[in-house]
Amino acid sequence: EELYGVNRWGAGYFSIGANGNIQIAPNHRLPDVTIDMQEVVEEILAEGIQLPAVIRFHDILRSQVEILNETFAQTIAEAEYKARYVGVFPIKVNQMREVVEEIIDAGEPYDYGLEAGSKPELMAVLAYNENPNALTVLNGYKDEDYLTLALLGRQLRRKIIIVIEKFSELEMLIPLSKKLGVEPIIGLRSKMMVRSTGKWASSSGDRAKFGLSITEILNVIDLLKKEDMLHCAKLLHFHIGSQMSDIRKVKEAVAEGARLYAKLVQLGVPLEYLDIGGGLGIDYDGTSSTTDSSRNYSTEEYVADVVYGVKQVCDLEQVPHPNLVSESGRAITAHHSCVVTNIVGEIKNTGAKFDISPAEGEHILVSNMRELVNGHDMHPQERYNDAASFKQSAYEAFKLGILSLEEMAKLDTMYWQILSDIHDSLDRENFVFQELEELEDMLASQYLCNFSIFQSAADTWAIGQVLPVVPISRLNEKPEVRCSIVDITCDSDGKLGKYIEGTEISDNIPMHSLRKGEQYHVGLFLTGAYQDVMGDMHNLFGRLTEVHIYCHDDEPGDFYIEEIVHGTTAEKVLETMQYNTDFMAKTVKKFIDREVRKGNIAPREGVRWTDYYEKCLADTTYLKV
Ligand code: PLP
Repeated sequence: EELYGVNRWGAGYFSIGANGNIQIAPNHRLPDVTIDMQEVVEEILAEGIQLPAVIRFHDILRSQVEILNETFAQTIAEAEYKARYVGVFPIKVNQMREVVEEIIDAGEPYDYGLEAGSKPELMAVLAYNENPNALTVLNGYKDEDYLTLALLGRQLRRKIIIVIEKFSELEMLIPLSKKLGVEPIIGLRSKMMVRSTGKWASSSGDRAKFGLSITEILNVIDLLKKEDMLHCAKLLHFHIGSQMSDIRKVKEAVAEGARLYAKLVQLGVPLEYLDIGGGLGIDYDGTSSTTDSSRNYSTEEYVADVVYGVKQVCDLEQVPHPNLVSESGRAITAHHSCVVTNIVGEIKNTGAKFDISPAEGEHILVSNMRELVNGHDMHPQERYNDAASFKQSAYEAFKLGILSLEEMAKLDTMYWQILSDIHDSLDRENFVFQELEELEDMLASQYLCNFSIFQSAADTWAIGQVLPVVPISRLNEKPEVRCSIVDITCDSDGKLGKYIEGTEISDNIPMHSLRKGEQYHVGLFLTGAYQDVMGDMHNLFGRLTEVHIYCHDDEPGDFYIEEIVHGTTAEKVLETMQYNTDFMAKTVKKFIDREVRKGNIAPREGVRWTDYYEKCLADTTYLKV
């Protein structure tokens, strides 16, 4: 059984090679052509790049765009569906320019478009993707500037669809478009009755933040009719939440959305597009189930349910099939990027040892604990209870000044020795007391990992999302150290809380023991959606250096670094917090000069200290190891 679940969450892109290294097959058309992740990391290091780094596999991004578009095209052909698929990529999922450009380029043959949800996003999409056949869907709450920019897009002959989320947006749009003499294409976002499941369930239902109720939709139609603008209403939109884990909710949403579309068409609304929003899930934990970090369906099944579901309702209601739009973001980008970093140390309760030999006049608690060290014949639960109680008494005694530091160190060493002993002796096949089950966690090491959860994996902290974490080499060796991964922020929340272990989700995971003088690289995978762009600068750890990897078309299995985007320096993060780093450097120099004048620092050394401070300002915010 495969410990880290790579084959399950890897979606065909990631596997483990015979050499024990993670292999990547980035092109879905060439599943047997792989590149070796360890070689990629070595090349990155040879370029002088410090870890942690984000590695983007642009070929995976292209593959995902192709797979989604081609699956829709094939299913539409098989179903004899009488319209086409014109998807859009919601840039909020990953606004990095290079990501958006790659998606536009890969999507060009399919007229794949973009979706924006704010003014800055709209300004970005206006400057990209000039394909006049592709859609630009505008969601989110809008003010007059947002709407004016959207009308500018119409002037540029773009198929820009302004999706009305609130009735008042239409009241703003109508006079504006008349004043500017630019006719909008209007979409209506429906507040759905179906309740999705999972972390984003509140995107639908009565209390949803977005969309128009049926009553409001009818009011919108009345207003459009009154203003002689009903012909502008071309799209019906819904979105019931991201990461839909249960296909039954997808089917329900499609049934509800398609019925609403059909009824509106029958009322005379000239809708041409049905936009089913995002929500196509990712199997982050590899369980193919309805957990929040998984999905119980394939992309093919999702697409078939959409195409056949809409067709069935439209045929029954005798209305034309609409063009299908989807706004999948997670499914397009999640696989293409990962964070590679190194383990910089191990924090181990059982690690520090003190000589426990008896000393004359030692406290009775110390002697009692020593008896437990030799208490191999005791019942494990009783031995554990006694050890825990002696430890507690020792703590109380220390506070009262009864125990010395040496005695505390002895008690501590013995306590962890006893716990390890109990843990090793447990017969896991038989019943084990719950407290003893927890020994695994208590004894697990913490591997200190050179990254910040808050910058690189925000959802693991915020919503308990599972992301695969795997060593990128040595996978042909049995990992023998049970550990959890903690980051380098000064925050006890800065840790990964859930790990994929076989088909289970565990609180800790076996990793390999660290070897002196050898780097141990781990990858945090599937970080391309949201995680890449949502992170914050907690503790002033900045954005990571990014490395963009492409594969050679003519040399299968070979790759090259196409671009390096350097991470934020200490200087840059400080400046975003309003520090003036020139002033800081000058001030520190002034302080150093003062000490030089006083004779506390030699002049030459003073220059070196000044240069060193300036060098660190221009350097990475992460640990250099
Ligand atoms: N469209 C809308 C309106 C959204 O709110 C979202 C995200 O929640 C998406 C698309 C993207 O969803 P996903 O990344 O799950 O495909």
